[in-house]
Amino acid sequence: MLTSALVEQLIDKLLQKGALRESYAEELRLTSSLKEILESGAVEYRVFAETVAEISGIPFLPNPVPRKITRSIFDDDSETTLPLKIEEMFSLKAVPIEGGYGILYPLPQHEKLGEKLYVISYDEFLKVVKSYAKRSPLEVEDYLSRDKILEAVLLTLVQAAVENASDVHILTPSNVIRFRIDGTVFTYCSLMGKGNEVANAFFSLSGRTPKNPHAQPNSIRLSGDEILKDNHIKEVDAEVRELLPLLKQIDFRIEIVPHPPQALSTTARLLDRGKTFWKLDSLGLPSSTVDRLRRIVLRRGVLLVTGETGSGKTTTCYALLTEIDAVRHTLITIEDPIEFRNRFWKQLEYKETQEIELTFTKLLSSVLRQDPDVIFVGETRDAETAKLLFQASNTGHSVISTLHTNSAYDTIMRLRDLLASFSTEEEVKMKLVSFLKAILSQRLLRRVCPYCSKEEEIPHEIYSELERRTNGLLSKMGVTTHLVGKGCKECRGTGYLGRVLVSEFVEITPEIAEKLLEGISKNRFESLMLEQGNDTILVNAVKKAAAFETNFFEIAEKL
Ligand SMILES: [Zn+2]
Repeated sequence: MLTSALVEQLIDKLLQKGALRESYAEELRLTSSLKEILESGAVEYRVFAETVAEISGIPFLPNPVPRKITRSIFDDDSETTLPLKIEEMFSLKAVPIEGGYGILYPLPQHEKLGEKLYVISYDEFLKVVKSYAKRSPLEVEDYLSRDKILEAVLLTLVQAAVENASDVHILTPSNVIRFRIDGTVFTYCSLMGKGNEVANAFFSLSGRTPKNPHAQPNSIRLSGDEILKDNHIKEVDAEVRELLPLLKQIDFRIEIVPHPPQALSTTARLLDRGKTFWKLDSLGLPSSTVDRLRRIVLRRGVLLVTGETGSGKTTTCYALLTEIDAVRHTLITIEDPIEFRNRFWKQLEYKETQEIELTFTKLLSSVLRQDPDVIFVGETRDAETAKLLFQASNTGHSVISTLHTNSAYDTIMRLRDLLASFSTEEEVKMKLVSFLKAILSQRLLRRVCPYCSKEEEIPHEIYSELERRTNGLLSKMGVTTHLVGKGCKECRGTGYLGRVLVSEFVEITPEIAEKLLEGISKNRFESLMLEQGNDTILVNAVKKAAAFETNFFEIAEKL
């Protein structure tokens, strides 16, 4: 089958299933590659893979891919299978395996269609590759002890990616390397006293000369692609080099901080630009919130998604943006950095460190002149940004942004303070009432590990404390137990695996607006929310613990 015919068929099938917008299909028909469709951001990956399987007559392997099959692929010792380098798997080739099995990513090369293959989704593909690339922390220590610092650094980054860590802390004073996974920090391995050497390796990878590293913090940005292109990489041990394509999709933000007199510690934040398609109704928001968000997303005004760092705000914003038909409506984003690409959005990257004279304010002003219907600003970082967002909504735009606050009420107070630097108190109130559409405030709690949890009574102190704080919600719901994880290999002994979104949503209705103008207390505001049928974040979390998604220990600790 010719690829273009495959593209046509795929688009028709996706339209039939309602998995692709008609307006996007028109543009995608002009492409001749399945990869472009996959990377357009217009189709959910799993649906894409299933549909490719259907039209090519190749069976689709559901998640998770059975171990029997992954073993047959990755067993290097066996003569009957094809040992593969990760690099080859990323080269978009179908992979024929002796015995009729194979993994296909992400699409069939037509010459392989005669062989018996499987289609798997991209997420599942990455999971399989990652499980193959997992190494013992002892290997990192071994490289450090042999002064093979670059190997140690690269292997650490790969392992952080494999473990889905969000941060790597390389701490000289405590002589350890730690990973943050699902919000919790774990000690990964010993630093073998090589903190300064590691920091210098990051400088040399980035090609930067450190500015006074023992006196001031240094920030470095590195992308996986840059690392792969670096000349030093050619000399790295083949065992480590083979794993580096796993870094391709990842951006690193690296901070190197001094510990006087002579030590350096390094923190690397991992930003996976990868490969997830977000759907608003699969984030874990209440369905009433999803319905209301859909209704207001295009309406003029400011919609804020708020929460602490790492609470999934950007993911929620992307899910909101994918709700919009970006062919019929102009959608412009200003981000730092761009975490997810969608070919139908106009995405601008703002780098604080860039030396050309393009300030954030200028960028946003020029965006406004292009008269978009929807503007997404990655983060409301200061008063100037807040002012511009409200100006934009004043001229009829729908504006979406994020703010670092913990509740809807705190968001309003923070906005009031930000706007107060430019306006009188009366003007601030009018702006909030007229142009603030809604606030979605969210947090991530840990999900109870499904492998080692069992049902237990909620401890008395926690029960009565939450009863008090929720006006007797637990007794009303008849909840007396929750799930508790005992700790196992899957959850690294923590009893938790993955995370659950808890949220509160407030639409600024005339009634709420009126109360805002009066100057309402936090307690009154939250009672008003509940009266109007909006759960507070605490109530939402209690409901999720009662449904065994998270537990009451986690609520007592985090909320
Ligand atoms: Zn467990």
